[in-house]
Amino acid sequence: MRDEYAYPMTATPNPRSTQNRLRRAFTLIELLVVIAIIAILASLLLPALAKAKAKAKTIQCLSNEKQIGLGYLLYASDHSDFLPLAAHEGDAAPCQWFFEISPYIARQIQSYTGLVAKAQVVACPSAKLDKAFPPSTPAAQAYGGYGHNYVYLGYLLEAERVKVSHVTKPTETCMNGDGLDPGPGLSWWNFGYLYPPSRAPWGAATVRPYNRHGKGVNYAWVDGHVSTTPWTTMSNGMNGKIDWFYMTHPEDKPKF
Ligand SMILES: [Zn+2]
Repeated sequence: MRDEYAYPMTATPNPRSTQNRLRRAFTLIELLVVIAIIAILASLLLPALAKAKAKAKTIQCLSNEKQIGLGYLLYASDHSDFLPLAAHEGDAAPCQWFFEISPYIARQIQSYTGLVAKAQVVACPSAKLDKAFPPSTPAAQAYGGYGHNYVYLGYLLEAERVKVSHVTKPTETCMNGDGLDPGPGLSWWNFGYLYPPSRAPWGAATVRPYNRHGKGVNYAWVDGHVSTTPWTTMSNGMNGKIDWFYMTHPEDKPKF
């Protein structure tokens, strides 16, 4: 049977069909116009996508802080109302708070040594701590990008622990929040602490605003709520008198 779609070898090209083929193809100009339209659409969409991604990370971090904050309060309810401490007296690595709340957030770290050996963390998705720690850093993973309010809620010693009931402004005293990312003068021991707005981190000459989530960073407060709060709000107390959002009482002074 003859293949009706095959052209005979001797057939002369039909100028009409060549013309049709040319008409069906894109011209260079048309192609460039399509590419330009795609580029314009991409330039409109990509910033919106990036914004949505950043927002999603902020919300995930807020959820982490909610979990951490509940861990703090559950710890207090099982320990005569005392909140966790920042650091472990043995080596001062600022991850004692994580060890202490771990049973309440399903991490079940059995001992501080266990935490140092292997940490399952709650981590801020926007933290930039991947290469921030020397290999020997105790429980480096445990920081997770979060810090403990060590000045007002306890640093190292048992005597420094604060009871929930001691905090007179629980809605205005934060327990934990997004910590610092690496920067000039900072070292690994900076990353598990939350610094009051008037205090330069150890090793750094000046105060470092926390800007991890764009317009604000995430905090868990003593009353159990969480918030994304701008640095300007957090630093309203930078008048030489008070760090309002870190005070257990307006007349309190930082302990060190
Ligand atoms: Zn965060």
